[in-house]
Amino acid sequence: MSVPAPGAIDCDVHPALPSMQVLVPYFDEYWRSHILMRGLERDNYTASAFPPNAPINCRPDWKPPKGAGGTDLDLLRSQALDAFATKHAICNVLHGAQAVFSEDLSAAMCRAINDWLAAEWLAKDDRLRASIVVPMHSPELAANEIERVAADPRFVQVLLWEMGELPLGRRIHWPIYRTAERLDLPIGIHAGSSYRHPPTNLGWPSYYLEDYVSWSTGFAGVLNSLITEGVFVEFPRLKVVLMESGVTWLPGWMWRAEKTWRGVRAEVPWLEKSPIAYAREHVRLTIQPFDAPPKAEQLLRIIDEIGSDEMLLFSTDYPHWHFDDKDALPDGLPDHLLRKILVDNPLKTYSRLSP
Ligand code: ZN
Repeated sequence: MSVPAPGAIDCDVHPALPSMQVLVPYFDEYWRSHILMRGLERDNYTASAFPPNAPINCRPDWKPPKGAGGTDLDLLRSQALDAFATKHAICNVLHGAQAVFSEDLSAAMCRAINDWLAAEWLAKDDRLRASIVVPMHSPELAANEIERVAADPRFVQVLLWEMGELPLGRRIHWPIYRTAERLDLPIGIHAGSSYRHPPTNLGWPSYYLEDYVSWSTGFAGVLNSLITEGVFVEFPRLKVVLMESGVTWLPGWMWRAEKTWRGVRAEVPWLEKSPIAYAREHVRLTIQPFDAPPKAEQLLRIIDEIGSDEMLLFSTDYPHWHFDDKDALPDGLPDHLLRKILVDNPLKTYSRLSP
């Protein structure tokens, strides 16, 4: 594929903190003194789902001369924004702050990250937008942080991990969804885990290979939970964006969910329509990593099986290794579909991106 249409919206890029020390000025006095007293600024709180030195975490040609991939704004500008004539890119900071066991410390760290992101990235390039990092295991504190940060219109989404303490449809999470819906913020659910549970259904794996490959099954569980528990009945305007989930598992999941729902729907009478209908209306998926063969006919067939051309959103997943560069989408796609994936679908999903 040639360079995407001007005006493309990149729905998943990953700025990274060079270290915890850069956050120190962004804590309030109470937390700064605690962080320094405990020596917490010397830890890095890397999300273990994204080990910084794993080759998969940064393409070799996108690695900065020093530091981890995603820590250099100028490189992000030239490699991810200028290269694709991107109008807006949504920054998703993947950080262990969301998974810290202390709810108060997790909330303080998320606050600091959001303020650091606004000052050090969003303020320096007006193409950048961001997701709000929240203490996902403390929904009341997460809702407070969403409320605080949403006053800044450059924040366009709330960021959660796919795998946390409980399935994401459970009512304990609903304060997050209630606040997000009211403030026109989609829920971005990114691949990864806070490791409260094994990332596979079978128990703890030994290797990152097993861990990462298992994540797509986590997304199927996320969709089962959100739809079955009635999240989209309670929050009819809520949109959910699955990021780094892959795409080709979705038609199989749709078939299985629909078939089973037809057999047992008396169990869930609050569902007003089928799981497929909820998914098409409320769920969107970013396209990197794209897990289909690189032929336009195959992508068109997947879209046909999904039954909607409104669910896919362009993303580079910069600087992760998965990104296929100019081959992010196969050659030969019709212009109207390219325009939908690159521009129209993201604009419809993120109302805050429209003027
Ligand atoms: Zn990503």
